[in-house]
Amino acid sequence: MDTDKQSGKKGKVIVVSAPSGSGKSTIINHILDSGEIDLQFSISATNRSPREGELDGVNYYFMTTEDFRAAIAAGEFIEWEQVYPGRFYGTLRREVQKAVDEGRNVILDIDVKGAMSVKEIFGGDAMTVFIKAPSVEALRERLVSRGTDKPEVIAERLAKAEYELGFADRMDHVVVNDDLQHAIAVTSKLISDFIGD
Ligand code: 5GP
Repeated sequence: MDTDKQSGKKGKVIVVSAPSGSGKSTIINHILDSGEIDLQFSISATNRSPREGELDGVNYYFMTTEDFRAAIAAGEFIEWEQVYPGRFYGTLRREVQKAVDEGRNVILDIDVKGAMSVKEIFGGDAMTVFIKAPSVEALRERLVSRGTDKPEVIAERLAKAEYELGFADRMDHVVVNDDLQHAIAVTSKLISDFIGD
């Protein structure tokens, strides 16, 4: 915001992590669309193919593996991970640093390891939130009903979910998504409280 820019106040970094199917994207999109909190979404880069309806420069910057590797070598990422075998995801320095320096708050949707890295870089200016589905079975049902992934991909995501759950207690906050509206309200309040500090 202009006032923050003029006062030299830095923006905050909010990191939301969750196993896929936990409702994380729905929660983030809802908070962004509500416009109640001044937040900018950090668009990550990835070498995976776009899903139906996903747009380059909106959901992700879709890159070839070669371009992704070149971006790593050029130091363009503040963190990057091979979240699934052969599939790379990274947070671009230009997406986050400039916004924060200008006093804007940024929200990141990244995996648990990336969340730990961002917390280490931004310290007290970053807050990590883990969104948890009520159970692995609930996750499976959501991934199946979403209909965007093949059975083997769903199996891979569920195995990953079990691993990611192990990181929950290293995050600043855990929100259980057993009721979407409630989870949105809780996450939204955590963010406003953190930004308002
Ligand atoms: P999806 O392929 O479902 O969009 O994302 C798979 C996983 O990659 C999700 O857990 C998502 O949060 C994570 N992810 C997306 N962007 C980034 C990023 O820039 N860095 C890291 N470390 N993980 C990311």
